[in-house]
Formats: sequence, structure tokens, C-alpha cells
Amino acid sequence: MQFTDSHIHLQDYKTKNAQQIIAELREYNFTKVICVSAQSDDFSYLATLAELAPELIIPAFGIHPWYIDKVPTDWPELIRHFLQQYPQGILGECGFDRLKGVDLVQQKAVFQTHIELAKEFNRPLNIHLVHAEDILASIFKQLPPKFLLHSFSGSISFLRQILHHGGYISINPLILRNPKSHDLIKAIPSDRLLVESDGPFQSDYSYLPDFIKQISQIKKIDSLSLSRQIQQNLQNFISSSD
Ligand SMILES: [Zn+2]
Repeated sequence: MQFTDSHIHLQDYKTKNAQQIIAELREYNFTKVICVSAQSDDFSYLATLAELAPELIIPAFGIHPWYIDKVPTDWPELIRHFLQQYPQGILGECGFDRLKGVDLVQQKAVFQTHIELAKEFNRPLNIHLVHAEDILASIFKQLPPKFLLHSFSGSISFLRQILHHGGYISINPLILRNPKSHDLIKAIPSDRLLVESDGPFQSDYSYLPDFIKQISQIKKIDSLSLSRQIQQNLQNFISSSD
């Protein structure tokens, strides 16, 4: 069985170096891993990973809403530079978050720039959304054709809105802590489902093979078909939309 991880911060695994991580991912049979940045300091490490394993690592360049105060003013130019350099690169993680009190006007402006870059380069967006469903809902129509909601655990009605606008849903093993999550998992169409670890913060890539088994039991699909479908979904997500 083969695996994918649609949201991981490999630069934050402090105890392992890039070569070790890549060797381990190959050992576990991962075929594609989206490595997201949180701030512009991460970009060059992601580029290194993408050079080491271009078939495996999809670098995502973006500014996480928690760090928008820290970025250099030329951050859009930096992202543009890396997107030009790495044709497999995408945008993220970026989005909205009400947890840390970061100014929402600023968050909207930064996200808008990510949307423009996604459209300019025809690349997908890896979106972070915490306590801000209303904000994303108000700009659904502006989103690029390909986007995913990372670490999704929202309501089924919000799920339907995302699906309606063509979005993919990425879930991580922590979702199973909530007993109500089974209904949500059942409601995600198999062809829009992605799995992630959000490692090293929420989970770890080594848990994803088991997570696939658990999802397959909930959705009553055999785990091999499910893992193939998720591979295909990630491929569809990253392939250009025209
Ligand atoms: Zn993340």
C-alpha cells in the first residue's frame, strides 16, 4: 500500500535531518508529501528537500496567519521566486485564524495576495482555517480552482459549501478524538478526501497507514482501494487545472 501526506512541516522535525526524513518516508512507502512553510525563513529548507527528492516532496510556499507580523515586506516576491524555481511548488500554508488575535484586516490582505499568486501561477492553495469559517465563506468565489482545507473538523454544512466550491478536505488522525467525527468522515466524498499528519505538531507521518485503516472501516471501503483513491486525489489536487 502507498501513502501520501497532504500537510506536514518537515522543517520542524528538529531531531532528524532532511536525508533521514526522506529515507524514512520512502521506507513507509510515501509517494507524495506536501511540505508546507509557515514563514519565509522556511522557504529555502523546503527548496532543499524538493531538490533532494523531487518525485516525493511538493514544497508549499506561504505565510501562516500566526506569522504575518514577522515577514519581510517583499514576501510575495520571495514566493514568486520559489514558484518559478519549483514548478511542482504550491501555495500554503495560509488562511485565517482567530486564536491568536492577529489583526483580521491584515490576515485578509495577506490571504488575498496568496490567492493572486495561486491564480497567476495556476497552483493550488493549502489553507489553514481556525474559528474563521465565516471569513472563508465570504470569499469562496475568489478562491483558485484547486484548494484544500487542512486539518478539517468543521460542520457537515460547512463541508458541503467547500465541496460545492470544488475544495478538497484533508483530515489528520486527531479528528478521531471527537466521537462525532465518524459522521463527518462518512460525509466526505472519497474523491475529495486527503490525509495529513500536520507533523510534527498534530501527528506524525508514521501514523497515517493506521489512520487509512481506521477511515476505511468508518467509510466501509477496503483500505487498499481507499489508499489508491487518496493517491489519485492528491495527484488531481496538484495537477494544473487547465
Ligand atoms: Zn500546519
